[in-house]
Amino acid sequence: MNDRIPYAEIAVVPAKLQARPIEAGIHTRSFSGVFRNLRIGFAGALFLLFFGTAWLQWNGRQAVLWDLGNSKFHIFGATFWPQDFILLSALLIICAFGLFAITVYAGRVWCGYSCPQSTWTWLFMWCEKVTEGDRSQRIKLAAAPWSANKLVRRLAKHSLWLAIGLVTGLTFVGYFTPIRPLAAELLTLQLGGVALFWVLFFTAATYINAGLLSEAVCLHMCPYARFQSVMFDKDTLAVAYDPRRGESRGPRKKGSNAHAQGLGDCIDCTLCVQVCPTGIDIRDGLQMACIGCAACIDACDGVMDKMGYERGLIGYKSEHSLQGGTTHWLRPRLAGYALALLVMFGALGMALYLRPMVSLDVIKDRGLFRENALGQIENIYLLKIINKTERTGHYRLQLLDADGFSLQGKTLFTVAAGDMSELPVSVAMLADRPVSSSQPLAFEISDQDDPAINSVAHSRFVAPMNR
Ligand code: SF4
Ligand code: SF4
Repeated sequence: MNDRIPYAEIAVVPAKLQARPIEAGIHTRSFSGVFRNLRIGFAGALFLLFFGTAWLQWNGRQAVLWDLGNSKFHIFGATFWPQDFILLSALLIICAFGLFAITVYAGRVWCGYSCPQSTWTWLFMWCEKVTEGDRSQRIKLAAAPWSANKLVRRLAKHSLWLAIGLVTGLTFVGYFTPIRPLAAELLTLQLGGVALFWVLFFTAATYINAGLLSEAVCLHMCPYARFQSVMFDKDTLAVAYDPRRGESRGPRKKGSNAHAQGLGDCIDCTLCVQVCPTGIDIRDGLQMACIGCAACIDACDGVMDKMGYERGLIGYKSEHSLQGGTTHWLRPRLAGYALALLVMFGALGMALYLRPMVSLDVIKDRGLFRENALGQIENIYLLKIINKTERTGHYRLQLLDADGFSLQGKTLFTVAAGDMSELPVSVAMLADRPVSSSQPLAFEISDQDDPAINSVAHSRFVAPMNR
């Protein structure tokens, strides 16, 4: 097909998009196949991870919880504080980079198999099939005037969508507010305030995105498709139709010698179009609207089986292979991405391993100094100590290299597991005359049970020079 869009031009020829407007209604046909099973497997894993993890308990507390009120993020045995969120940013950057690398290798596999938008949309499409029937029944129902049957089916579909939306919204909010009391309050209709607002907000977001908009989100709202041309190269695998093998397309009887009549392997059954969730015809070439779900591969492989032809008329193909060449699996760009990912993962692992398990911040009191009962100059400080371990921390506080200074008050204290404690302390200057009006001070706390766990924070001691 000479109107096929070259890989490098995907993003700059939107006029070639063949997607039917979503408003016109895309009624996909049911199909089966290897890639459908793969997608169901990925979807099952994603649902299990999302819906299941929220209910897990760890050491008497929700295993994964972003406690916004206390600015803490619990993930199993680890607690992360705002100071650690640089690690989270690093993880997100690595994930984005990983997505680029995977896209260079295999196109939009993320969209096709793991993207939550696609996954929930497939689930909602399944609900549509359960309540309104298969493709032909849905097309008939859409065209039919309103009747009791149509009303009941539509109500059932939207109720199912809303129910899934509600469970999704509840689970999502449950990662920020303990899910068990949240669910209990929702079930007993006692949920109110901010929590209720967010549960309803995410319920509506799920219902609208996966149900009402479905693939329109991929077509018109997601920017990822627009980046493709930057990431794809001539060896990138993408779902593609092989026109050299398929053309000229046309119907024929099974077993007939179609090739002798100048026909290719495509029997023009349009099944590949009927199963496509974005309503495109992959035979027109690679298009931005293709989310790489491989439904057309499954559909076409089924047709090839029935016709007794070799599978793979539509398949994961590179532009090189479509031109009759070979796909280069090992190429410098991919090796570079793999190496960079390895280094980034190594650095993140090291940063996590070396993450200080106690954190100390020192805030100097606004008053510059004061004189105590012994006539010594004193400065007041507020220490903030965060215990990032999963046990009660017993700490010792001391000044480092502080000749001429004395720490007043408590130097031994405890902080509960995963908690923060504030400790006001004062430091007195023992010398009569300060060497400078502002001198550096270093505070150190160390864990009495594990001296390797310690933290040092710096501040200044202020004193008058004219005493
Ligand atoms: S499913 Fe295969 S045979 Fe049928 S129209 Fe599509 S490419 Fe041709
Ligand atoms: S063209 Fe094929 S892979 Fe692309 S969205 Fe449609 S069915 Fe999925």
